[in-house]
Amino acid sequence: MRVLLVEDDEPIAESLTRGLSRYGFEVRWVRTGAEALTAGDFGLVLVDLGLPDMDGLDVCRELRARGDVPIIVISARSDEVDRVVGLEIGADDYVTKPFGVREVVARMRAVLRRVQPAQREPETHGRVRIDRRGRRVHLDGGEVELTPKEFDLLAFLAEEPGAVFTREQIMEAVWDENWFGPTKTLDVHVGVLRRKLGDAASLETVRGVGFRLVLT
Ligand code: CA
Repeated sequence: MRVLLVEDDEPIAESLTRGLSRYGFEVRWVRTGAEALTAGDFGLVLVDLGLPDMDGLDVCRELRARGDVPIIVISARSDEVDRVVGLEIGADDYVTKPFGVREVVARMRAVLRRVQPAQREPETHGRVRIDRRGRRVHLDGGEVELTPKEFDLLAFLAEEPGAVFTREQIMEAVWDENWFGPTKTLDVHVGVLRRKLGDAASLETVRGVGFRLVLT
């Protein structure tokens, strides 16, 4: 997913860009509000409040006036007024500096989970139809019975068919935990999905890295 980061503080922006890319996000970094407003379309926007050319709240307001892009405010100001104003003008969440990348990723995922199902129409990839809102999957028109985790795994990999996701990324997104141990559970679920989807989808193992989903 493409993320726009609006932040004038270079060390923060660099570490966030590096950190988010490790989680599979593609980050475009701009330093000013003016650049943010001409940067194009993104899946999510992170906006610092203290920008050199304009107030980050005005950037949020303008982005919100244009559409539904999820917005997370990042700020050094921890006062309640900014938080309330930020959320009132349409930001979806708020993180206060200093923060860790893990915390930001958790907020981003939570916001995306809240926002996406309502916006999304069922997607058709070849013979497979994924209805994220109804949490249903159809194959050649017939419903495929999936457990909640099987659905989450398929839905996550189908966010970007063809892209490789690491075991760690998958474990964290689908099982919502920081996973250092063996990932046998993941292999079991991949095996079940392979069986249930047959030749309509191929869950390819990328040795030493993770998995990619190819839908045919
Ligand atoms: Ca700043």
